[in-house]
Formats: sequence, structure tokens, C-alpha cells
Amino acid sequence: MKLLDGSLVAAHYKEKIKEEVKSLISQGSKKPHLAAILVGNNPASEAYVGAKVRTCEEIGFASTLLRLDAQIDEARLLKEIAALNENKDVDGILVQLPLPKHIREASIINAIDPSKDVDGFHPVSIGKLVLGQDTFLPATPYGILLMLSYYGIDLSGKHCVVVGRSNIVGTPMSILLSRNNAYGNATVTLTHSKTKDLKAHCLQADVIIAAIGIPYFLKADMVKEGAIVIDVGINRIEDASKKSGSRLVGDVDFDAVAPQCSYITPVPKGVGPMTICGLMQNTLNAVKNKR
Ligand code: NAD
Repeated sequence: MKLLDGSLVAAHYKEKIKEEVKSLISQGSKKPHLAAILVGNNPASEAYVGAKVRTCEEIGFASTLLRLDAQIDEARLLKEIAALNENKDVDGILVQLPLPKHIREASIINAIDPSKDVDGFHPVSIGKLVLGQDTFLPATPYGILLMLSYYGIDLSGKHCVVVGRSNIVGTPMSILLSRNNAYGNATVTLTHSKTKDLKAHCLQADVIIAAIGIPYFLKADMVKEGAIVIDVGINRIEDASKKSGSRLVGDVDFDAVAPQCSYITPVPKGVGPMTICGLMQNTLNAVKNKR
């Protein structure tokens, strides 16, 4: 079994982006600028946005973090997005999800200028993805593709089972892997909460991508010998042995599943850091698209 080390691979891609930023700046370009909007103070969202802002600093991007009150109404939030769309210095905009219940997520995502949609959630980005056109890929699926490419893992002709059909992970991942492109050409089964006999589907899989949001959901008896397992899940569970009283675990029962895999991602330090890489690469691409 080989561990797919997200920290190591992310460091590799971040270094490459950092070098490219230096070279762009030496040619007279400005720093890539990522603007993040955080509504409210959900602790997980705070942590994710904090990591994104820190990464911007690390690799030579400018960043703006707009903190907005959880009570903000949709119209006011739309105005903030319009201002960032208009701001010529801002190359990429991300709105940290989830948003408070009174705000319609789709209306916010749809308001982002597609040329600045570095999270890749806008209908224009998703539409282009489906058609195989150049676009911003959603950051998590993009990060997973970067990781597979780093390890030289070719999924062509493989049977991939994606568990979970969210707009941000499962659905775009299933489409990307099934397309005729350098990283795709897999045969894909997209499974979800209404799938019958999920175990039978998973046992057919050469590759399982788990994006469910249930700790330890994927068990050893659902995975065939030699499979590749990518664990997208980030779940906080109680752990009295930790000072914080909790720890992060994935959607895969890692200790039981890992021995029978050819490759597996850990949680933490698996897909998480790669998602940030996908976002940063998209922001760099936003700058390059303007040149
Ligand atoms: P989500 O929470 O929007 O949806 C969960 C999906 O799982 C749904 O499509 C549902 O159909 C499916 N599902 C639920 N119960 C199921 C069952 N019993 N059998 C089969 N399928 C079932 O999904 P999401 O936003 O993709 O998040 C999934 C997990 O990934 C969460 O833990 C989230 O925190 C994590 N996540 C991690 C990253 C990262 O960077 N590593 C990025 C995004 C999400």
C-alpha cells in the first residue's frame, strides 16, 4: 500500500506556482489577487479560509478576506460580489460555503463573474467542464487530478465508483473522470444516498472516491484488493485524548481499508491540501487568461 501524501504533493505544486508568480512579476505583471468572502464565523469555515489566505502569502499572491456578519441579507452580499467583480485588481473570488440558511447559495454563486470563478462552481464553469472546454475546474476534483498526475496514476479504462453526488465534489469528479482527456477515460459509476446495494458497486471498483460526509463510512468489506481509495471526507469527531476534545477523520475506515489498497489518501493531509492547490492554480490561471 502506498500513501498518497497530500502535504508533499501540495508543497510540490505550490512551489511551481510560486516560481511562476515570480516569473510573471519579473515580466511586469501584478501579483495574482484572491478575494475571499466569509459570512459568519463557522469554525470549520474560519479554518478553511485561514488556510487559503496563508497559502496566498506563502506563494506570493495578494489576498483580501472580507468578513461579513452572519445576518447579512442576500442583496447586500450580492452588492459585495458586484464590487469584487468590478475591481480590476481582483483576479479570483471565492465565497466560503456553506452560507447561512437565509441566503440562497445558487443566487450568490451565479453572481460571481465567471472569469473570476476560481472555485469553479458557477454554471458557466460547470457547463464548460461538461463539454470538455477549458475552464476553472472545481477546486477539490482539480486537486485530486493534480495528485493522481503527480503519482503517475492513469485511470484510463479503470472502473471508478464515486460515492456522493454533491455539486462541488461528486458530480464534477464523475464527469471529469469519464471524459476523453488526459486524466479521464475511466468508466464511472456515480452513487448516492438512494443507491441500492452500494457495497456491490464499490466491490467492482478499481478506484473509489468517497465524498459522503459520514465518518468511517467506507468499510474494508466494501473495497476490493488493490483498489485506489481517495477519501474526500473531512469530519470532526469527539476524541477525549486530544486537548481540543476532537479530531478530523475521513469518510473511509482508514486503518481497516488501507492494508488492502494499492494507493490511499489519509485524512488529514490528503485531499484537503490538494483542494487549496486547485484553488491557487485556478487563481494563477485567471491571471494568465487575461494576458
Ligand atoms: P454533501 O455533504 O453535499 O453531500 C453528501 C453526498 O453523500 C450526497 O450526494 C449524498 O447523496 C451522499 N450520501 C449520503 N449518505 C449516503 C449513503 N448512505 N450512501 C451513499 N451516498 C450517500 O457532500 P460534499 O459537500 O461533497 O462533502 C462530502 C464530504 O467531503 C464532507 O465530509 C465534506 O466536509 C468533505 N469535503 C472535503 C473537501 C476537501 O477539500 N477535502 C472539500 C469539500 C468537501
